[in-house]
Amino acid sequence: MLNNFLDDKLSQIKNLGLLRKLRLISGAPGARVIVDGKEFINFSSNNYLDLAGNAEINAAAKLAIDEYGVAGASSRLVGGNLSVHKLLEEKLAAFKNKEGALLLPSGYQTNVGVISALASKTDNACIVMDKLNHASLWDGAKLSGARIFVYEHCDMDSFETVLKRTKNYNLKLAITESVFSMDGDLASLAEFSELCVKYGAVSIVDEAHSTGVFGKNGRGLADELGAEDKIDITIGTLSKTFAAQGGFICGRQNLIDYLINKCRAFIYTTAISPVICAAALKSLEIIKKSDAQRASLLDNAKYLREKLSSLGFNTGNSQSQIIPIITGDIKTTERLSKTLYESFALAPAIKPPTVPEGQARIRISLTAGHTIKNIEQLLKAVVQ
Ligand code: PMP
Repeated sequence: MLNNFLDDKLSQIKNLGLLRKLRLISGAPGARVIVDGKEFINFSSNNYLDLAGNAEINAAAKLAIDEYGVAGASSRLVGGNLSVHKLLEEKLAAFKNKEGALLLPSGYQTNVGVISALASKTDNACIVMDKLNHASLWDGAKLSGARIFVYEHCDMDSFETVLKRTKNYNLKLAITESVFSMDGDLASLAEFSELCVKYGAVSIVDEAHSTGVFGKNGRGLADELGAEDKIDITIGTLSKTFAAQGGFICGRQNLIDYLINKCRAFIYTTAISPVICAAALKSLEIIKKSDAQRASLLDNAKYLREKLSSLGFNTGNSQSQIIPIITGDIKTTERLSKTLYESFALAPAIKPPTVPEGQARIRISLTAGHTIKNIEQLLKAVVQ
């Protein structure tokens, strides 16, 4: 019975042109990777400062193996709370200018766990979401059971209209990404946070794709836009610019204390590995002093966007290192992805439901490891 069910479902997905398959990649996911024994320029990783495989980070991880071993071994509350967790949380909180921080084993888990711990029907809470928020934010919101209001993507008039409808709720969580993961566009965080203050909403910003890339010392877009003080809760991930793995949340100490008591995704999971924490501590040190790499990454991204636009490609409203080439239909996107692949540029097709229907695209992710020559190679490949 299950076999038939699975086969039917898989052929439906295949017929829609939406079947996903894993591709085997060798080595650290840097600007160049080996796929099927051949070298490709990698435009598909979130390794924005090119820290994956960094020798200093590897050395920090190796030392941590000797000190702690690899395992988290039990949950933080039961017996898995190590000094390296505490140290990393203190450093992350200071980095994000907040009182406290809490680590979780993944960014996905952080979003699901935190939102569902904060919002509930019983407490008469509601959630106000940007339409294009990441799946993990949506999954947390849905799991909470609280009423969800949606505003048009990055549209602060629409956000205010929606906020006006939330006056009967005891707790309002307003959630946005800062750099949007599939569009590379930027939320207006100053206006967003001011509207949150005006309407008594808690502002929650997922800085997964901006931490390390924007702001002073890589603190994120909220810092860059002068909104950091007005944002109540910042979420981040260690799996992108940090080139490690895991998620974190920063805010007031009472938020952290509450989550330690109420966030099921924190309570009922094994502590994040100490090796990862030691690696992330080293990444943080490097991130803070990488202003030159950030500037050149964003300059390269601007150059690529301008070139793509002049060639007639639609890069949406991207203003960051994430640059979509929006082709619309699935077949055109796949064709372009294949052309790029044949030119040894790894840039996958992103299709619904990851992006809205009719919005299929190639998602180019630039890193500090890409040279202008790499960008020229990509440009040559897209026009083939
Ligand atoms: N938030 C956003 C905006 C993301 O794009 C992602 C992953 N792509 C996550 C959270 C999840 O982070 P992680 O990969 O660490 O689970």
